[in-house]
Amino acid sequence: MAMDTNKEIVKKIKKYNSIVIARHVGPDPDAVASQIALRDSLRLTYPRKKILAVGASVTKFKYFGALDREEYQEINDALLIILDVPTLDRVDGIIGLNYKEVIKIDHHPCDEKIGNIEIMDDTASSTCQLIAELIFKTNLKMNKAIASNLFLGIVSDSDRFLLSYTTSKTFQIVSKLIDNYDLDFTNLYPKLYERPMNEIRFYGYIAEHLTLTENGFAYVKITPEILKEYDVDNATPSNMINDFNYIKEVFVWTFVTYDDKNEIYKVNIRSRGPVINMIAEQYNGGGHKFASGARCKTEAEIDALLKDLDLECKKYNENKK
Ligand code: AMP
Repeated sequence: MAMDTNKEIVKKIKKYNSIVIARHVGPDPDAVASQIALRDSLRLTYPRKKILAVGASVTKFKYFGALDREEYQEINDALLIILDVPTLDRVDGIIGLNYKEVIKIDHHPCDEKIGNIEIMDDTASSTCQLIAELIFKTNLKMNKAIASNLFLGIVSDSDRFLLSYTTSKTFQIVSKLIDNYDLDFTNLYPKLYERPMNEIRFYGYIAEHLTLTENGFAYVKITPEILKEYDVDNATPSNMINDFNYIKEVFVWTFVTYDDKNEIYKVNIRSRGPVINMIAEQYNGGGHKFASGARCKTEAEIDALLKDLDLECKKYNENKK
């Protein structure tokens, strides 16, 4: 699949003068790194084309590079490339864009085809892995900065090679990035993992306040007051949820954070057994089998979601017996 599709993608890219690269709302390192890496590779390969990486910028991911302003009035008939997002409704920053065709490159499971060309590989560790493959298998160019971004995106989304979709292919690609571009990779880690002390104290708050059910389901509800007390923003819990893996008594764990600006509950869900994305999909969410998110409007919806997740843990435990 990938070889021919990669070549087809480059053929399509060659045809367009304006290319807009977008990713999902509320981006994580894989989304931003893949977007900026692909933009920089296309700029290096085709210096005359107008290539933009769009969407809201996130201060803490600035080390990947700056995003572009959306100057859509100057663009006609663009090629839109969406990364790390399965459906158009969760793409950030494309309102007002006049685009002609869509290419999708993603690793989230999704049956719905929305792109003229698509790579949907839910066996890939990350979108950055797919972008590295695309560049290695075609005549697209790479440099050290691009390789560093791809490396960090892969490390982040595979949770340092812990998650099950880490494969020998992931290691082959990482090894090639390190060898070909002489990456001093241990010195890249602070970019992803260094944290201020108040975040560590907030981490302690979460650990103290997780409620654990008899079925191995753990959750915490985080209010705007608590975020204020610890001086963290409402995206901080998302960056911590993976750190609660491998707690002996816990199979599924969930953080519920109330976003008072948008009047919505943001939910992060992780699992090391029960499949959770089908449940998330019922609550305005989705994601991977073992890493999902949801958005709820009311506390009643939240409680129903927590109940469903607890029940899924119960079923999981019963099936194991
Ligand atoms: P998060 O907990 O925000 O890190 O998200 C985990 C995974 O679920 C990511 O792959 C997200 O793209 C996906 N996800 C999060 N929220 C939603 C949502 N509201 N709808 C669909 N997918 C989501």
